[in-house]
Amino acid sequence: MSECLFCRIAAGTVPANKVDETEHVLAFRDLNPQAPSHVLLIPKQHVASAEVLGPEHAALLANLFALASRVARSEGLDGGWRLVTNVGPDAGQSVLHLHFHLLGGRRLGWPPG
Ligand code: AMP
Repeated sequence: MSECLFCRIAAGTVPANKVDETEHVLAFRDLNPQAPSHVLLIPKQHVASAEVLGPEHAALLANLFALASRVARSEGLDGGWRLVTNVGPDAGQSVLHLHFHLLGGRRLGWPPG
């Protein structure tokens, strides 16, 4: 059994508040939401972070971005939304499994902190 938290969520051995999924990508609510809508999108297969992505992940990423749009629509984020991924300690990555934060439902400041 994997030690990786998000692998466990993908496998269903750790519970999560699932929003949507495809064969290869899962969307679930962040435990500590930073916006009215805060959904995490992960590949079901383990990928450590955006740093290791290559051409072999092209289809997976297309799938993930398509799911993000679908979730944004189902969340009613007609005014806009943000997709962000943290890479490494300076960016605050706390889970070493690639994930994109989908944030929306309020005015989002720029630049982010
Ligand atoms: P990051 O800091 O970019 O690595 O984001 C990790 C995110 O995962 C944080 O926003 C956490 O709140 C969230 N998180 C950690 N554990 C869980 C969990 N079991 N279920 C849902 N979200 C989680």
